[in-house]
Amino acid sequence: MENNPRSSAVPEPFSYPAVDGEIIVLLKDRPEFIVAGHVGPDGDCLSSQFAMAALLQKLGKVVHLANAGPFDRSEIAHLRSDFLTHIDDGLRGRNPVVVVVDCSSPDRLGHLADEIEGLTTLVFDHHSSGEKFGDFRYIVPRSVSTTMIIMHLYKTMGVPIDTEIAEHLFFGLATDSGFFRFLSSYRGETLRMAAELVDLGVSPNAMADRMSGGKSEGYVRYLGKLIDRSESLFGGKLMISSSYLKDARSFTTSDKPSDSLYQILLSIEGVEMVLYFKEIDHNVTEVGMRSAYTSPINVGELAESLGGGGHRKASGVTLECSIDEAKRRLIEAAGALLLS
Ligand code: 5GP
Ligand code: MN
Repeated sequence: MENNPRSSAVPEPFSYPAVDGEIIVLLKDRPEFIVAGHVGPDGDCLSSQFAMAALLQKLGKVVHLANAGPFDRSEIAHLRSDFLTHIDDGLRGRNPVVVVVDCSSPDRLGHLADEIEGLTTLVFDHHSSGEKFGDFRYIVPRSVSTTMIIMHLYKTMGVPIDTEIAEHLFFGLATDSGFFRFLSSYRGETLRMAAELVDLGVSPNAMADRMSGGKSEGYVRYLGKLIDRSESLFGGKLMISSSYLKDARSFTTSDKPSDSLYQILLSIEGVEMVLYFKEIDHNVTEVGMRSAYTSPINVGELAESLGGGGHRKASGVTLECSIDEAKRRLIEAAGALLLS
């Protein structure tokens, strides 16, 4: 029989590394925990916080969720009351363990970083860049989402996953993988984990609806405006668009349709990079960055060089400057990468 010409090139299947025994002991032994995530929480962050809190509750622990917010986006606004936005001295005095999820560096915690100083801290994350922090870390950059890292922790600790937890785990995976679109070859383990969650009662259909449905008409009209406002630079290799403070007067949505915007702008042939500038204040600008599947551009490195972070194909940074200055700096840096 003829050999399969691809078989010799098949890499070892990915599997999650073992979780450090000291982490397991800490989770089992200590009575009280704070589960914290990053500022401007997204689907993977919030789902990871809920799934981690549920694991600790199943172990009989007292658990507090903490996030500096903001919780302005409509799909998460109702969750605001579940989270502490500050750690008060009473709680600090009981010496809880802090479990930080989905944060590549301490500054991602916003003002909570100072408030947890001195408390034993565990970090579970999947970002490839960032500043090592915390007393114990379980960092798996090849994990598609932080929720898959937490699913591995459930399995390691033999804690059963009920349907509600399975939904959190699946939702983080769905949001960070663009509903599996960003998954590469030989990563069958991620789909097998997703399949397990579906067999535990998760409906991918309901999750897709939770992820991209339920938007207001104003949101879709704003997406139209952002597409209309977009500009093509460097011979079509870069697309940029911007949100301004003044938009609040014309568009009745607090949501920024960034994921849809990235997807649409990246679908243009020849586009290698998308930069999305968000005017947060007159001297604060958030920049979201994406690079195309086929492009060698690493936007994680670009964001990190400016003080932000993220992944190879998706990253961001917050700059303390006007939106015009942020554009000038980023377009220059992007040009150096795209024209080299
Ligand atoms: P998004 O554009 O969806 O907000 O973020 C994309 C990715 O970049 C996420 O993985 C997120 O964690 C990361 N990211 C976004 N903004 C920042 C930032 O200001 N600092 C760091 N370290 N990472 C960021
Ligand atoms: Mn994540």
